[in-house]
Amino acid sequence: MIKTTNILQDKFGREHTYLRISLTERCNLRCSYCMPEEGVQLSPKSHLMTYEEVYEIAKTFVDNGVTKIRLTGGEPFVRKDIPVVLEKLASLPVELSITSNAVIIDRFIDVLKANGIKKINVSLDSLDKNKFTHITRRNQFEKVYNNILLLVKEGFTVKVNAVLMKEFNEDEIIDFIELTKNLPVSIRFIEFMPFDGNKWDLSKMVSYKEIMEKVNQHFQADTIERLQDAPNDTAKNYKIKGYKGSFAIISSVTNPFCDSCNRLRLTANGQIKNCLFSSSESDLLTTLRNGDSIEPVIANAVHAKHKTRGGMDTLKKLQKPDLHSKNRSMITIGG
Ligand code: SAM
Ligand code: SF4
Repeated sequence: MIKTTNILQDKFGREHTYLRISLTERCNLRCSYCMPEEGVQLSPKSHLMTYEEVYEIAKTFVDNGVTKIRLTGGEPFVRKDIPVVLEKLASLPVELSITSNAVIIDRFIDVLKANGIKKINVSLDSLDKNKFTHITRRNQFEKVYNNILLLVKEGFTVKVNAVLMKEFNEDEIIDFIELTKNLPVSIRFIEFMPFDGNKWDLSKMVSYKEIMEKVNQHFQADTIERLQDAPNDTAKNYKIKGYKGSFAIISSVTNPFCDSCNRLRLTANGQIKNCLFSSSESDLLTTLRNGDSIEPVIANAVHAKHKTRGGMDTLKKLQKPDLHSKNRSMITIGG
């Protein structure tokens, strides 16, 4: 086992201060880019972290320097004890945020506020009800759309994530940006990424360059403002002058932001993943249940992190199905 004073610093000098915790492998939607049509093999309940274990593991990360935790899934709000999880994690000295599909988030507004959660990312891939139903395989457009409006009204900082795909929603780029005229949200266009079972193909992806071409064709150059990105931000941020909201592009495929990566991921069954694209995992939960320290396991996982995209440093490697099919489906990683 490697011994180092800062277990969250990797061999390239990157400090990992941001932990994304997946709370469940389950979801009330079935987005085709996230999970295979036939579903995923769910872990037995006894293999999933209890809320006490989520807290214990999170606390170890926070004690070692993590300052931000984002809860994700699957859909975090389908987890029955989510109020308790939030309450426990809110007691840590950390900025807590959440990513959700927002289908049932309206039931949790008070819980979110009581636990000091201010930032919420919501997935919405189409403003067209039929397209939404097609991509999510569920008829929940109105709920999601209205809940985005509700979150804004209730004072949350809302980012809307849209995965763009050719011949599906690339024609909605301008509609999404127009939504920011009166709605103070940030729309984040995400390049479609490859995971096990999601039928990824580079030709289906809409790239950063293609998105900006559409933006430049539609808006006059002097109205498109490039915003300052926050440190470690994965998105390139823009706004249209005078609009209340903004938009951004997350280009993990064509423009990876690995040099400034500060993220680690904890899956619902207690495995640490040092990169979204990496197929290797380290078992924190079994170590914790055996009564051993999880710090050396974290140190080893961080030390083993590749410089770029879990070792898939070129587009050519990313296109090799045998490399990304060893990875989990996104729904069981926690995006
Ligand atoms: N259920 C929640 C939601 O949908 O926001 C949280 C979990 S979801 C896995 C987290 C994020 O991952 C979502 O914004 C989703 O769009 C993104 N995502 C899933 N599969 C993806 C893929 N193949 N490429 C890019 N983003 C993906
Ligand atoms: Fe569920 Fe989110 Fe995956 Fe869609 S992207 S299937 S909402 S986990």
